[in-house]
Amino acid sequence: MLQTPADSTLCAALFAPDSPTVEALEAQYPPRELPEGAAVTRFAPSPTGFLHFGGLFGAFADRLTASGSGGVFILRIEDTDKKREVEDGVSGIVEGLRFFCIKIDEGVVGFEQERGAYGPYTQSRRRLIYHAVAKRLVEQGLAYPCFCTEEELDELRARQETAGVNKGYYGKWTRCRDLPLEEQLRRVRAGEAYTLRLRSQGDGSQRITVPDLIRGKLELPENNMDVVLLKADGIPTYHFAHVVDDHFMRVTHVIRSDEWLANLPLHIALFRACGFKPPKYAHTAPVMKEENGGKRKLSKRRDPEAAVSYFAAQGYPPYCVQEYLLTLLNSGFEDWRRANPRAMLEDYPFQLKKLSPSGALFDLPKLEDVCKNVLALYSAEEVYALGLAWAKEHDAELAALLERDPDYAKALLSIDRGGAKPRKDLARMSQLREYVSYFYDALYQPGFTLPEHIAAEDAARILAAYARVYSPADDKETWFAKIKALCAPLGFSPDVKEFKRNPGQWKGHVGDVTTVLRLAVTARRNTPDLWAIMRALGEERLCARLQNALALFAESHIY
Ligand code: GLU
Repeated sequence: MLQTPADSTLCAALFAPDSPTVEALEAQYPPRELPEGAAVTRFAPSPTGFLHFGGLFGAFADRLTASGSGGVFILRIEDTDKKREVEDGVSGIVEGLRFFCIKIDEGVVGFEQERGAYGPYTQSRRRLIYHAVAKRLVEQGLAYPCFCTEEELDELRARQETAGVNKGYYGKWTRCRDLPLEEQLRRVRAGEAYTLRLRSQGDGSQRITVPDLIRGKLELPENNMDVVLLKADGIPTYHFAHVVDDHFMRVTHVIRSDEWLANLPLHIALFRACGFKPPKYAHTAPVMKEENGGKRKLSKRRDPEAAVSYFAAQGYPPYCVQEYLLTLLNSGFEDWRRANPRAMLEDYPFQLKKLSPSGALFDLPKLEDVCKNVLALYSAEEVYALGLAWAKEHDAELAALLERDPDYAKALLSIDRGGAKPRKDLARMSQLREYVSYFYDALYQPGFTLPEHIAAEDAARILAAYARVYSPADDKETWFAKIKALCAPLGFSPDVKEFKRNPGQWKGHVGDVTTVLRLAVTARRNTPDLWAIMRALGEERLCARLQNALALFAESHIY
């Protein structure tokens, strides 16, 4: 039952005279002029710790929903809980989004920097706006001052526990809901501490239905709690603040974690009390991780990969992480990617309703696979730029090598790149040092273990023979023809099939000969195209490697 609207003297006692009216706010923040169906979304983190992978996941869903509909994506900072705030919390969030190329259209874009006509976008700077709406609620009899102390509330909870009923400030348990106006005025004027509470119109035995874009129609108990709207210091609670913000920022779609589902009836009640239209909701399930055959939530405390800074430090390319996020967000994405291997991510028709209601599974090997696939399609130029940017932050020695001779670095990165079947060696930039190590004498560590069936003496002979015929001008065919020609005189079959037919007659085959060369040049058995590597290394470095290996093989042979 609605109380008689409160006397304006109560409002005057509760609120400073300078708070704007709700009408003035409506005029200041008018409905947006956007195309039909455009979604206005917001990512609304609290600056209480690092940017979490789950947050990135939600922010990306916000970004895609806004972009796909010609809408707007807002970053709002919810800093009503100053006690939990951490230093650099805001910068960490903004930089995290920037690193992953999640563009912010409006809102907080840097430390104490905002952009857009619907601000301020930091809750601690919106006090007057909350007070304007709170004042209107008091005028309408929908909010009231509550003078209960913490001790009284503790005692109330204890009594409710004994009675075996729901805990909270509601119905007959409310002590201040029906205080006479004179008493309210007297206590406020006497300077007694108070909070401002919603005068709930709901009935806890009733159910409400709320559509959810991921979960379909939700049936939930109606809110009957007289929750706190403004705390004793005048700062709003999250519940109240976000309703006011979503309304005046003209947010149309709220995509957020399903841990807020329990509060959804309260939020709906608050939208109704304020006379605002609730947004469309999409509640996302938490990102999960597989462990010991079971599943659990990705944990801030236990999993290093829960912090998005982990991906930056490891040098996962931002667009690859986006690609991976899409595989988590939309079940149809991988089919689309197979059909459109080179299409831009922005062209994917993202849909909230295809989000899994049961929780996406975070899987590092899968992320690596996605990154390898995407990176394989990057040009050498792009990999060079990514690698250099990462190395400048994390590996100064590598950065200096890459910068010293960019053309050399790009030449080696272009090996086996660009063709129909590019190699997929690299997933992240922290692998780059290892990947390029044999191209740089400063990083190269010779160390050869020959396959068991190849004697060191034969390896030495192969190298000596090759050194005699090597020419830096050889094209790939000539290069290979020369290697084949070396084989038979050294007892190796130039033809693998022939070797398989008569294995007893040969020491090995042409593949073994190239293995010896590969080992001598790169100290590895598995590399991209050897001819291209030899060319990129250049005559001087190549000959030094061959000499060096020859000496090693010769030494290990006991005459
Ligand atoms: N500040 C809330 C949080 O960090 C935002 C919840 C919402 O998106 O409404 O979880």
